[in-house]
Amino acid sequence: MSAEPGPWRHVLILGGTTEARRLAEALAEDPSYRVTTSLAGRVAAPVLPPGEVRIGGFGGIANLAGWIIGHDVTHVVDATHPFAERMSFNASEAQALTGVPLLALRRPGWTPAPGDDWAFAADLDEAAALLPGLGSRAFLTTGRTGLHSFAHLADTWFLVRSVDPPQAPVPPRLEVLLARGPFILEGERELLARHRIDVLVTKDSGGFATAPKLTAAREAGIPVLVVRRPPIPEGVPETGSVLAALTWLGET
Ligand code: NAP
Repeated sequence: MSAEPGPWRHVLILGGTTEARRLAEALAEDPSYRVTTSLAGRVAAPVLPPGEVRIGGFGGIANLAGWIIGHDVTHVVDATHPFAERMSFNASEAQALTGVPLLALRRPGWTPAPGDDWAFAADLDEAAALLPGLGSRAFLTTGRTGLHSFAHLADTWFLVRSVDPPQAPVPPRLEVLLARGPFILEGERELLARHRIDVLVTKDSGGFATAPKLTAAREAGIPVLVVRRPPIPEGVPETGSVLAALTWLGET
């Protein structure tokens, strides 16, 4: 008997990252997979992956579980950004409800290199508490959401870089730079010098696209305040590469 034609596995990729797009690209070449990427809809003009795309929240855990069952999803890959904590929690809870296998795909975090001067914060609020002790002209690259954590820092000047404009409340003294990575070292060096930046604030996002700012800070002798990642929900298997995610899909 010949194998059944057409897609017989439906992978739901919770996306919004380069890794999610790469996984969708890799699976698009395999006819045994149907792929749906889900985006939150935060970015006005997202870069769309191949395959099906749905945009917007599911409306909580039960609705996510209903979507998974209703669309005959066979595998879920949570490839959201390492800081998309709520979505990762929802995915884990939905897995418990549906029994559909779930994998967390997370690019590895950054590690300091010789010459780096890094301080760590557990979250944005702690970063805001530590910041005045580290510098007074901050390059803030933690994304447009969460700026409210820094809004009370009236003595700090901020260069805020984000894909879309930040929403209030924001710190009183700031300049906004709208840009989407990848960024190059030369540009990052120039930015730090032009704005006389004396501290960089970043999430531990990992990856190459936004890493040159760390090198530029090291070269300039500028301290970096790194916001640590929230943990992945307990019991969810985790992998750091698209290749390993493909292996998991093949074996599960
Ligand atoms: P979050 O706080 O973890 O999630 C908040 C809510 O947004 C979720 O409960 C869910 O709504 C919806 N949502 C999040 N990701 C979704 C997805 N991929 N598809 C459908 N709905 C999604 O998320 P966030 O930190 O705001 O991030 C939103 C998106 O931006 C994610 O896709 C993430 O990968 C991407 N991103 C985040 C960061 C960051 O630093 N947090 C950076 C770069 C990219 P419902 O409960 O209604 O389903």
